[in-house]
Amino acid sequence: MTPGAQLESSAGTRGAANANFPLIFELSRAGRRAWSLPQAGVEAPQLDELIPDAYRRAEPARLPEVSERDLVAHFTRLSQRNWAIDVGAYPLGSCTMKYNPKSSEEVARMPGFAQLHPWQDDDSVQGALELLGTLERALCEATGMAKLTFQPAAGAQGELTGLLIMRAFHQANGEARTRVIIPDSAHGTNPASVSLAGYEAQEVPSDERGLVDLDALRAALDDDVAGLMLTNPNTLGLFERDIARIAAALHEVGGLLYYDGANFNSIVGLVRPGDMGFDIVHMNLHKTFATPHGGGGPGSGPLAVSQRLERFLPAPVLHWDGGAERWSWNHDRPDSIGRIHSFHGNFGINVRAYAYLRSLGPEGLRRVAEHAVLNANYLRVRIEDSFPTAYPGICMHEFVSTAKGLKKDKVRALDVAKRLIDYGFHPPTVYFPLVVEEALMIEPTETESKETIDALADALIAIAREASEDASELHDAPHDTPVRRPDEARAARDLRLRWQPASSERAAQRPRAPAP
Ligand SMILES: *Cc1c(COP(=O)(O)O)cnc(C)c1O
Repeated sequence: MTPGAQLESSAGTRGAANANFPLIFELSRAGRRAWSLPQAGVEAPQLDELIPDAYRRAEPARLPEVSERDLVAHFTRLSQRNWAIDVGAYPLGSCTMKYNPKSSEEVARMPGFAQLHPWQDDDSVQGALELLGTLERALCEATGMAKLTFQPAAGAQGELTGLLIMRAFHQANGEARTRVIIPDSAHGTNPASVSLAGYEAQEVPSDERGLVDLDALRAALDDDVAGLMLTNPNTLGLFERDIARIAAALHEVGGLLYYDGANFNSIVGLVRPGDMGFDIVHMNLHKTFATPHGGGGPGSGPLAVSQRLERFLPAPVLHWDGGAERWSWNHDRPDSIGRIHSFHGNFGINVRAYAYLRSLGPEGLRRVAEHAVLNANYLRVRIEDSFPTAYPGICMHEFVSTAKGLKKDKVRALDVAKRLIDYGFHPPTVYFPLVVEEALMIEPTETESKETIDALADALIAIAREASEDASELHDAPHDTPVRRPDEARAARDLRLRWQPASSERAAQRPRAPAP
């Protein structure tokens, strides 16, 4: 069975045209090639001269053999089946799918960056190291931290790195603390990273403001607590106003305060986590600094620490020798937690972040945060009558609305999300955070125009009206996409992603999507 056959086909026009095109393996014909070039006039080295016998395949890999025409059409059609940030708004709360300036993309693709080899010696990559060094200083300045590592390839890996540093710190003090506290609104990666690092996650509740319940936190604190993980603003899009008191209470019992910086775009240039009392900070360069999150692409989750934790950072760390005017990697780090990624993380994402920071400057960065907050509040107020927020008041870069008012019409948050696709928008995050019933978590981002946000608000208001007038429109949505509503249970339990060469028999048995 092909993966596509698990998915219900669409009867819509765009979907119909697009739904049944064959897999590239099915297009394959032996000997077909995607190029047509004359024989080279020079003697080219033979493959067996370049690669020793032992490393060559006995048989060629079974790759599809197609014409250039088929190849280009195949990938172009595939790209059209996806919603992409370059196609339109993508208000996926917590994920920050913001526009990635094409100038950052250009810079990252410059051959001097893109074609570096990770094994090149330090002397031949001084420019790249200087870029990392400059970016490190800028990010440390923005977070109020002393030093950082670029190794983590995602926010979640930054979390693990930070927690391992937390453990190394306590161990160096001769302490074996066992618990890390997280609020109940935390991102799912937080408790996962806590257990991965060998700690026990202890949840503290949010109060009626949607903020950490300070009394419950104080009750949970003792000298067995290694630290507290917070994202500020939290995942409800609310600023933890008691942060100074939280930091003081935690430091009092010797714990470390961890900042999940995935929501940094709402405060960057305005407030520094270090000044709020945080000791460890990870950033999502793919969220805050140019690259949109998601899509399965590479990420970069640098982890920055205050001075007292510097010596535990993963080795090697970047070093500038002022006398010799030379950048190098310092491997002499006896207290380091060790490597957590090969080489130095995803360099290309760091180049994009560097280009983005340099193009904005400190003034521009501040405007990023101001626009992120303004856009979110504008949208929040516009849709309030249809989708009230779970916690009242001003939000930061995102907010969580509830669709529970539509339950009387048998409409759920999922139906609203799916219907939004028909209106030309990517759905928001739904059913997260768990503390909000029928949650719609919306982040318009700082990069959308007022017109786009107005159109998104109009669409949401129209959908709420449809729910009371004719809910079937919502239950059947989306109407016009190649894939409508996948069977989520089967997609999780019976996921088939590998194409199998079809014997004629198996091909005949394969379920076909119904004809439009
Ligand atoms: C996205 C996100 C993370 C995890 O980042 P990844 O790069 O997806 O691993 C952690 N915390 C919060 C609040 C996030 O939004």
